[in-house]
Amino acid sequence: MHVSLSFTQLSTYRRCPRQYEYCYIKKIPKGVSEAEAFGAAVHNTLKKWGEEEMANEELRMKNSEKQLEMFAVEAGSDIRKLTAESLVALWHQSCPTNAYATRFEADAARLRGEALMELFYGWWSAGKREVVAVEKGFFVAVSNEQVAGSSLTVTGRFDRIERTPDGLHIIDFKTSLPRTQQEVDADLQLSIYALALEQDFGELPASLSLLHLTEDGIVEMRTHRGAGQVSDALKQITALHGRIEAREFHPTPSLAVCRRCPYRGVCDVAAV
Ligand code: SF4
Repeated sequence: MHVSLSFTQLSTYRRCPRQYEYCYIKKIPKGVSEAEAFGAAVHNTLKKWGEEEMANEELRMKNSEKQLEMFAVEAGSDIRKLTAESLVALWHQSCPTNAYATRFEADAARLRGEALMELFYGWWSAGKREVVAVEKGFFVAVSNEQVAGSSLTVTGRFDRIERTPDGLHIIDFKTSLPRTQQEVDADLQLSIYALALEQDFGELPASLSLLHLTEDGIVEMRTHRGAGQVSDALKQITALHGRIEAREFHPTPSLAVCRRCPYRGVCDVAAV
């Protein structure tokens, strides 16, 4: 049997196996929280922004090729100017209107998004950027001898990949508060990105960042992954897969996790 697991599924299982069971085995609907709707809108805005960067780069290359061929083309024609205002305009296109209980909350989210986009623009415009891909899906084939007769694919999505003088740099956008450097260095999601990049591009990333968009500013937590950490990630993934296949769904309640769990209303061991 072939099994496909997304990083979101693995992450849910690690958070609490029963939460995984409610969501992916029993398929109990959970709706979309305001925080999830806001985060999705930020990702969507930055995806469109990255696509505009890539479209501009393609036009620049076409224009320079045509100039080399001695055609009369004005360099820079059709190239869109990327400004803080155009980024905020993209945010307005993505900003959810029906995810909030009141008009007041919707207005507050819209203004918060505007402020985050202006902060992001400041970060983005501070350096030269060569974007290689945005919102690029990936499939990582994992052989798992622990689970006989079952093959595994881990799926996910890169938010943004940039080319730097040192190599490829993976950026993952977050609207949550930053974690510690130690946590980022051991983060399984980033190790999976490194694994996926190696399978897709034939090289490990030069660096990886969690880019936290917070009202206090943009916080970039940068880290690296070597072959040893990638191999350790594979071991973690195969162990999680084995436990899921063995239907180990024992709950692991805690205040921090249960408080954000969409199933706390139906779970008999919820810590809140
Ligand atoms: S309420 Fe807590 S223990 Fe229950 S499923 Fe959610 S996270 Fe797990």
